[in-house]
Amino acid sequence: MKHAADDTIAAIATPLGVGGVGVVRVSGERAKEILACLFVCSNGSMIDSHRMVHGWLIDPKTDLKVDEVLACLMRSPKSYTGENVVEFYCHGGLPVVQRVLALALDSGARLAQKGEFTRRAFLNGKLDLAQAEAVLDLVNAQTVHGAGFAVRQLEGRLSNIVKGTRSGLVDMLAELEALIDFPDDLPELNYDQFVKRLGGSIQEIDKLLATADSGRIYRVGLPTVIIGKPNVGKSSLLNTLLGEERAIVAELPGTTRDAIEETVNVQGMPLRIIDTAGIRHPKDRAEELGVERARKELDAADFTLVVIDASAELDSLDKAVLGRASGKQMVLVLNKIDLGVRINQNELGRLANGSPTFKVSALTGEGIEELKEGVFKYIQSHLFQPFGEAVVINTRHKECLARAKEALVRASKSGSQSMPVDFISIDLKGAVVALGEVAGEMVSEEVINTIFERFCVGK
Ligand code: GDP
Repeated sequence: MKHAADDTIAAIATPLGVGGVGVVRVSGERAKEILACLFVCSNGSMIDSHRMVHGWLIDPKTDLKVDEVLACLMRSPKSYTGENVVEFYCHGGLPVVQRVLALALDSGARLAQKGEFTRRAFLNGKLDLAQAEAVLDLVNAQTVHGAGFAVRQLEGRLSNIVKGTRSGLVDMLAELEALIDFPDDLPELNYDQFVKRLGGSIQEIDKLLATADSGRIYRVGLPTVIIGKPNVGKSSLLNTLLGEERAIVAELPGTTRDAIEETVNVQGMPLRIIDTAGIRHPKDRAEELGVERARKELDAADFTLVVIDASAELDSLDKAVLGRASGKQMVLVLNKIDLGVRINQNELGRLANGSPTFKVSALTGEGIEELKEGVFKYIQSHLFQPFGEAVVINTRHKECLARAKEALVRASKSGSQSMPVDFISIDLKGAVVALGEVAGEMVSEEVINTIFERFCVGK
């Protein structure tokens, strides 16, 4: 349903459940009126902007007290949305916050749509689109590191880098347009220099594009598989990495969680372990398990943990698993070291092909911290490439940047062939538009809708 953008909106901003505090947020023209209608300040004074005040939330129809609250008015434009915003900090029980919300709605607000507060912040110029997306990333961050990337994006780092590149291209475009408009008054275009400058911009875009995978790792986790022949301790290792007894190992058949995926937090980096149900419900055909399943899983994953029983000799199944995994980004886990190390490490070294190897006991926990550290370092050096340690992009940014790059490559090619200036300017303009979409300087309603639909109500 389409709603007027100047309605006053209200929503519960905290999770729906029992908590110490529940926040109801109101934004828009009528926020102050709603505050005056529902709130009685305990010292009877007027409410200053950006001051937290104590008082009572009352039902204006009955004058009965609903809750003892703190209220805060944030006058436009110095608020999250840029509009007048009022927040009520109530006691956190669901019936209380629902009641306060209902009273706000009765007093002239309507229920906010998903992400509408942040959408208004964007439309009122408080945030650009990349920053608005950072708000969503921050709320949904799975680890402290992920939250760190989101905060840096919220701070505007990505937007600033892209704006810098874009403004260089806008200057070049202006030069081309001057040449088109006043061909007789200006010297001819220096094509070589022009192509060189384009090359610089392409490089900057490439650096950002290279961070797409890293961004994905922190947003959704690195798709990871644990493979190995039956009984080497894959399920036990998964449990130990998860830090709790969430799966049932082979000795305890029976009730098992059928989760398809679990997220293991390795020093702040989320590994999305895929097909955990497959790990936990091994079928009894050893060969199929060791090799066939490994093949399917390997295709789906970006990173592999190969588990081998250190207390026994390497056998043909181990070798088959290693063979399948060769060429993949992998770390070897020699498990069951509490039973002694019997494996031929020279032979293993040859088969491991330089992959780092860690000795652990999933049973006692020995070596697990070192494994986590090693996995983190391996991923950082092999699969992870943030921009100056600070910025990673998402799929939408990737698409915009890729489009900008394509246009610049075309412009560069035309430049090397000394094509007419107006011809080159079309591609350059295309690149400027595409880069503008990252921060939302030029972006369609549809894109905006898609982004804010992913938010929750109240954000
Ligand atoms: P999977 O088939 O590879 O998933 O192996 P499981 O995790 O189900 O483990 C198979 C058996 O090995 C179970 O009896 C586990 O308790 C045992 N096991 C797993 N890890 C270790 C370990 O580090 N040390 C010892 N002694 N036993 C282990």
